Amino acid sequence: MTEQNKITFSKLTGHFRTITRHRHIVMKECFRLGLYRQGLLHDLSKYSPSEFWVGARYYTGKESPNNGERRATGYSSAWLHHKGRNKHHYEYWIDYSTREIKGGIKPVRMPLKYVCEMFCDRVAASKVYLGSEYNKTDPLNYFLSGNTGRFMHPDTASLLERYLRLLADEGEDAAFGQIREELEKAKWTNRNSKKQDAK
Ligand SMILES: [Zn+2]
Repeated sequence: MTEQNKITFSKLTGHFRTITRHRHIVMKECFRLGLYRQGLLHDLSKYSPSEFWVGARYYTGKESPNNGERRATGYSSAWLHHKGRNKHHYEYWIDYSTREIKGGIKPVRMPLKYVCEMFCDRVAASKVYLGSEYNKTDPLNYFLSGNTGRFMHPDTASLLERYLRLLADEGEDAAFGQIREELEKAKWTNRNSKKQDAK
């Protein structure tokens, strides 16, 4: 292990502060959408030993420490731990196909409430990393820059893009208002279709 990858007290506190600040922003944003449970539970696995110590070791404050772990070891064990437990990441929703693409990887469409949490997550991540430089078009630009990869279900990708565009064009109040409305509408339709099924 290089000197640079040692855990120091300042890296440890820096990492703790970054993940906690991120969580607080996501929590507030999720609450604006009525997603209280998800807001409270968002990213809690980052405090588990498998994720926390890697984060502290590769903390820089400028990018995700997972990238530091990738450079040092070739892959990120913290990320594999994280995406396997957190449904707001599209990578959680990757299955494999037995029919269309034999043995191939198959993206599954994400439930609406997790697309909304992913939206909040991306907005908060831009805010934390960019600080006072943050602009409402940043989350959309990051998405369009192609870092999303081809493993997001096309319906999920177009819904996320629509929400990010709404934010970029009309700002937070309009975007959160509209998304909350869509969530509520979906809840009602789900409830009514369940009642129908029970009849
Ligand atoms: Zn996460």
